[in-house]
Amino acid sequence: MGTIICQTCNSTIGHFEDEKVSRLYGKCDCEDCKAMDEDLD
Ligand SMILES: [Zn+2]
Repeated sequence: MGTIICQTCNSTIGHFEDEKVSRLYGKCDCEDCKAMDEDLD
């Protein structure tokens, strides 16, 4: 089982079933990440 990790705050977002990769990066909805998004734009 793989883990989905927030690339901004490194929080674990969820899990997925895949034998090839053990980790994916995504984005969660925490306040820090929302602030980051606004900074990037
Ligand atoms: Zn996050």
